Amino acid sequence: MAHARPRVVIIGAGFAGIHCARRLKKAQVDVTLIDRSTSHVFQPLLYQCATGLLSEGAISSPIRHLTRRHRNLDVVLGEAADIDVDAREVVVDRLDLSRFRAPYDYLVVGAGMRTAYRGNDRFARFAPGMKTLDDAHVIRRKIMTAFEMAETIDDPEEQSAWLTFAVAGGGPTGVELAGQIRELATRALEREYDSIDPSRARVLLLHGGDRVLPSFDEHLSSSAQKALDKLGVETVLGVHVTGVGDDFVETTRKSDKHKEIYPARTTLWTTGVEAVPFAATLARALGVEQDRSGRIPVTDDMSVPGHPEVFVCGDMMAYDNLPGVAEVAMQSGHHAGRVIADEVAGKANRAPFKYRDLGTAAYIARRHAVVQSGRLHMRGLPGWLAWGVIHIAFLAGARNRMGTVMNWSATLLTGSRRERAIIYGDTETARTPYGHWER
Ligand SMILES: Cc1cc2nc3c(=O)[nH]c(=O)nc-3n(C[C@H](O)[C@H](O)[C@H](O)COP(=O)(O)OP(=O)(O)OC[C@H]3O[C@@H](n4cnc5c(N)ncnc54)[C@H](O)[C@@H]3O)c2cc1C
Repeated sequence: MAHARPRVVIIGAGFAGIHCARRLKKAQVDVTLIDRSTSHVFQPLLYQCATGLLSEGAISSPIRHLTRRHRNLDVVLGEAADIDVDAREVVVDRLDLSRFRAPYDYLVVGAGMRTAYRGNDRFARFAPGMKTLDDAHVIRRKIMTAFEMAETIDDPEEQSAWLTFAVAGGGPTGVELAGQIRELATRALEREYDSIDPSRARVLLLHGGDRVLPSFDEHLSSSAQKALDKLGVETVLGVHVTGVGDDFVETTRKSDKHKEIYPARTTLWTTGVEAVPFAATLARALGVEQDRSGRIPVTDDMSVPGHPEVFVCGDMMAYDNLPGVAEVAMQSGHHAGRVIADEVAGKANRAPFKYRDLGTAAYIARRHAVVQSGRLHMRGLPGWLAWGVIHIAFLAGARNRMGTVMNWSATLLTGSRRERAIIYGDTETARTPYGHWER
């Protein structure tokens, strides 16, 4: 029996998926929103969760709560595992690995990216990336454990390795993480330990390019560099990380191949992303080629060439060299929703996607952030205030916004960080590079 209204399946409740669902709220369609997690995560603040400033609750919102007023939408916890293009069905794994099929008339995929180690998958065991709440918790555990270990160790060399934190990648995530570890060490932990001085913590920012924040204008990146220097972050430019182990990180200088080994018990990976595994399954099924990062090509209405009923949005789409940022995800998800809603309402022509670049921002340190929006460039205190307003505006839910402002204010006034609890978990099911879903 034919379904009364067109069925839309959305895979992923990130920025793209949620904004698509919002656009379809009043459309004459039935929507199924599938995510492998119960919460929509605000990734831009993951590093603050990893460094004890914000809780996981403050930077995430339950998907069911976010969509509670959508009368045409069902939420499903599960992982899209396969797709049957002829039958128009997505094969979904439940938590217990039993499977079911979700039929669609329109499919919207916004499943995002994951950390990429580009041929160095062995690094993943030692150097976690930061894409999910699990990642933020693993990083928080590594950082907090390092200070605790250093406190109980007498050997100065070993102690110094525990107090050395290496961050691979000088893009916004690497810069923010490195800065926050120094701030954690110098402000929050400074007076809490007996035998170590946390402010001695060495933070290395290892970057392949010739300046940090390469996606920003040169004078903003040089202002960020000055703030990092003042904070005590040691930036090493022009190097690739070529080895990571339990207690060391190795770099190779690009110019002369000189190798350097730093004794470091904590290495964190922020350089490089690739599409999540479902992208390969989707590309195969649709007969399209992924780009170097595994992204799926789309046409100007966000649909996959030759498959007008399948849309790919956000980080996972390859379109017009657009970057993997939240604003692209929100606008492309919204656009896919609009195309579907228009078509269902009988409008013949599909509108092309027009991206409005609202700019980009990165936090460096207390009272210092850089913001770039067209010709408007901000840094220092004005940049920091603008950064705060932008992030609060985009956080989902009034409660998260209020909680975050309160937490930031308390940290600003007292320096303390309260979200430092770590979870040890079960060693039998120890975390794999790609989280607990990997089999
Ligand atoms: C640490 C960090 C900092 C960032 N900072 C900024 C910033 O300051 N400004 C900015 O603009 N952008 C920033 N970004 C980028 C921004 O967060 C992304 O561009 C945006 O989240 C992409 O949205 P998306 O919906 O495409 O994917 P995501 O937000 O990644 O959402 C994908 C969703 O799909 C789900 N999923 C994945 N695979 C499956 C599957 N097989 N089945 C079901 N569900 C699945 C995931 O659980 C997730 O909920 C940052 C990203 C990171 C990681």
